[in-house]
Amino acid sequence: MAIKWLIDASYFVAAILFILGLKGMSSPVSARKGIVWAGVGMVLATVVTFLTPGMNNFALMVIAIALGGAVAWISGKKVAMTDMPQMVAIYNGMGGGAAAAIAAVEFARGEMHGTVVTLLATLGALIGAVSFSGSVVAWAKLQGVMKKAFRLPAQNAVNIVLALVTVAVGGAIVIAPTIDPLLVGAFFVLALLLGVIITLPIGGADMPVVISLFNAFTGLAVGFEGFVMGIPALIIAGIVVGAAGTLLTQLMAKAMNRPISNILFTPMTGVASGGEAVEGEQKEVGAMDAAALMRYASKVIIVPGYGMAVAGAQHKVWEMTELLEEAGVEVVFAIHPVAGRMPGHMNVLLAEAGVPYDKIFDLEEINGDFAQADVALVIGANDVVNPSARTDKSSPIYGMPILNADMAQNVIVVKRGKGTGYSGIENALFYKDNTRLLYGSAQQAIGEVIQHVKALSV
Ligand code: NDP
Repeated sequence: MAIKWLIDASYFVAAILFILGLKGMSSPVSARKGIVWAGVGMVLATVVTFLTPGMNNFALMVIAIALGGAVAWISGKKVAMTDMPQMVAIYNGMGGGAAAAIAAVEFARGEMHGTVVTLLATLGALIGAVSFSGSVVAWAKLQGVMKKAFRLPAQNAVNIVLALVTVAVGGAIVIAPTIDPLLVGAFFVLALLLGVIITLPIGGADMPVVISLFNAFTGLAVGFEGFVMGIPALIIAGIVVGAAGTLLTQLMAKAMNRPISNILFTPMTGVASGGEAVEGEQKEVGAMDAAALMRYASKVIIVPGYGMAVAGAQHKVWEMTELLEEAGVEVVFAIHPVAGRMPGHMNVLLAEAGVPYDKIFDLEEINGDFAQADVALVIGANDVVNPSARTDKSSPIYGMPILNADMAQNVIVVKRGKGTGYSGIENALFYKDNTRLLYGSAQQAIGEVIQHVKALSV
């Protein structure tokens, strides 16, 4: 009795820690603390499992935890910031796989406790298995292991038929009087195949949204299996992850101005399509002139994008910012919600370089300030500053909210050449009269600017 009370109380505390953790993660200032809170909750929930009456196989549990913990520790320490999306994908997939495995074990036991529990186990198995195999494909694409987007003829029809057949087999498991291993086996194969088939045609750059969607799926699957096993902490953790994943997916889709259905069923290939032709010439600027323009400015707004992440230029960018500030220039950062390739990509990189949070502003906070800025310095960003999104109805990014970099007195764009961004379209900003292009990889280009700012400051 006392043990049961202790277990229930521990699960309750763990659930509160998960919720506090998620709350903490909603702001960069408290994100680190949030992760620790949630981690402590997870440790508590894991430890208390050992006390559950009737629990055995302790040695296997310890080995599994040690192996999983070691792999997570090492990969977490080693992963490069730019490889974070694929790491999230694979870990998230493991969560879905674990939920499906719980259902598989319950099915293998052959003793389901009523139709409702079997229904929940089956739903959890379906969603978890789809999330697992889909996340593995997402990982392979982001990691560059799978380079091509495969698209079947009549892809959407194939998706629908496969989904219906899988649901029908799942339904048969639920209504059958006993668990039929053949049916269960076929169900898991179909569900895993469904995850693969849905994800294969989606382009690498859409993957973060898909990963976020699978994350929501995993949460749901874990929640269902929590009901099956009667573990409140699992139910709450699942619901929290499911809700957060759903909100994040919606936010990302909104910030990209694309409905989720459009991302899933009409994948963007990264090939230029639509949009009015852009006329004019790009005007080049050297590192020395760019440095002088910023060194003698009153206010500079930096817009980082995917190129800064690829080049790993965030440390140099912060070094340049400090030099400019020493020279009396006000420098702030403007972050677009989908800059880079994952939510919070730029915030994480800038935080890693030591940029204080009070210098980093979201789109709504900063957009009104560009008109008062002497220089907007765009570093490896493209789509998030494309003014066609405001005016060109034929543009694939029409309607996407953008950062008003074009409204600054001067715009300096750091990029390597004439490469387009993720959307694959030309950017009218690069051809405007007040825009100058500083060609080069971001790290090297900003490095040169730093040398010139230093020379101007002696
Ligand atoms: P973009 O992908 O639009 O543009 C990146 C630019 O960086 C390119 O024009 C490229 O030009 C330049 N670049 C590449 N490598 C380097 C380098 N080493 N040094 C300097 N420049 C470099 O990036 P944005 O951040 O502006 O936009 C993000 C895009 O990704 C949006 O379209 C968004 O919708 C999409 N997206 C974002 C997600 C997210 O969660 N953040 C999720 C899914 C999609 P060049 O080749 O000439 O150097």
